[in-house]
Amino acid sequence: MNTKLLSGTDLSNSIYSQLQHRINNLKDNSIVPSLAVILVGNNPASKVYVKNKTKRFEELGLISSTFAFSDQVSEAELVNKIHELNSDVSVHGILVQLPLPNTINAERILSIISDQKDVDGFHPKNLGYLSAGSPKFIPCTPKGIMRFFEHHDIELSGKHVVVVGRSNIVGRPISILTSLKGSYANATTTICHSGSANIFDYTRLADVIILALGKPFFLNSDHIKEGAVIIDVGINRIDSKEGRGILVGDADINSLKGKASAITPVPGGVGPMTIAMLVENTIEAAERLIKS
Ligand code: NAP
Repeated sequence: MNTKLLSGTDLSNSIYSQLQHRINNLKDNSIVPSLAVILVGNNPASKVYVKNKTKRFEELGLISSTFAFSDQVSEAELVNKIHELNSDVSVHGILVQLPLPNTINAERILSIISDQKDVDGFHPKNLGYLSAGSPKFIPCTPKGIMRFFEHHDIELSGKHVVVVGRSNIVGRPISILTSLKGSYANATTTICHSGSANIFDYTRLADVIILALGKPFFLNSDHIKEGAVIIDVGINRIDSKEGRGILVGDADINSLKGKASAITPVPGGVGPMTIAMLVENTIEAAERLIKS
């Protein structure tokens, strides 16, 4: 079987082109979509993610301001900063880069962000709207995954989707989105996690497998049925045979080629779509100013 590589780089570029007229329309109304990013500590991966997001905003002529704090920052200082950004009318979206140090209650911090500026979609109110089937801000990674299905005409209705991972960032929201009523959704979704027994018994039955666990080469061709679609969310840094640091997903892509019908590569799959959806959510937040 010919396995199609679903490029998130190509799809995100076409989304940026489509977003341009919305950006221009906002600029005609003297509004430049603006994102505020809170970065705590020195986690190298977090710094790279924030740099990539900022770069994309700048390339599109949008604003992204990073507020960096040491890992010694107090919860009160972060709360004050978020209150300040909540009431700043020039800021349309607020993102707190995760993970936060253990000394900070991440759940509390996320719940303080105005739900109108919660472009990451992690505020309990936005997670609630999503669970109730009427999402407002959809978390960026799951939203980006749904775009792959729409763009490549992968209809999920009547299909069995297996999600591995249940975080609020990826696994849980994508399990909800795929099972909501609607086109390119309406799936029968199974969610697996570290407490699940015999996970591969489920993946072998799946039409679509979404991997969001963060374990390199977790899934190989023995674990799928012929023709399954694999969405690989995982980002794992490992050493190559030559001793270089490389990024790989949760799927063993070389083993799956020839048996899966389609797969998202790592890098260049889900990652670029996450950033595109952050841009889209920030534009949406800014557009509400015109509509309100
Ligand atoms: P997370 O919060 O660590 O959650 C991982 C989930 O996987 C948990 O639900 C955990 O189960 C489950 N899990 C771990 N090991 C397992 C195993 N052996 N079998 C079954 N389930 C297992 O991670 P996350 O934030 O969701 O991210 C997951 C991966 O996606 C990471 O590699 C991350 O870097 C990547 N990611 C990529 C993007 C992107 O844009 N491409 C965005 C976000 C995250 P428990 O709940 O029982 O602990």
